[in-house]
Amino acid sequence: MKVHTLVVGLLQTNCYVAEDEGSGKAVAIDPGGNGQEILDFIDSRGLDLRYIVITHGHIDHFLETGFIQAKKPVPVLISKADSVFLEDPGWMRAFPGNETMIRPKEVGFVKEGDVITFGNTGLQVLGTPGHSPGSVCLYRPGSGDSGRRVPGVLFSGDLIFSVSVGRTDLPGGDTGQLLDSIRNKVLILPDDTVIYPGHGEPTTVGRERTENPFLF
Ligand SMILES: [Zn+2]
Repeated sequence: MKVHTLVVGLLQTNCYVAEDEGSGKAVAIDPGGNGQEILDFIDSRGLDLRYIVITHGHIDHFLETGFIQAKKPVPVLISKADSVFLEDPGWMRAFPGNETMIRPKEVGFVKEGDVITFGNTGLQVLGTPGHSPGSVCLYRPGSGDSGRRVPGVLFSGDLIFSVSVGRTDLPGGDTGQLLDSIRNKVLILPDDTVIYPGHGEPTTVGRERTENPFLF
């Protein structure tokens, strides 16, 4: 799996395009802005988009979902708990672009234990509440051992960032839940797992285990 990063929208959200290299099938994760740019990127690489996946129901992570879906009619996947915000972003209603946002149509729900498959790649859904009630992470396990190791990949949404953690002061946030999610779902993964967060630079599980001051 190859990971492409596009920094989009007002809050510099990381939209990731995850590509199954053998087949060219791909998923777009958190298209929170710059919809045309995301579409152009997908087309320029000749990718076959299969799903749009939303890590959590904050509009800076899904603003352009409906726009992309109108051009490429693929299912949108999000947790049931956070799906309500696709229709009405609630406390984020004043976010620029909401009023003209194209509401996504075909929406499917994902939960802990589901696997999102595209080509030979599977992304496991981890239920990781705390930043929002229905936040999920997407995990692709690593493979091989020492000499030929391919590290795992975790798309963490706004659960954990490079040496930081997601906010819990927003409606539906819960600090205890967030720390439990990080400890029970993220820190149990191998140290070399690469974390691609919703904002900012990538990091690794090993680095966060030793350097993240919010987890001590
Ligand atoms: Zn968020």
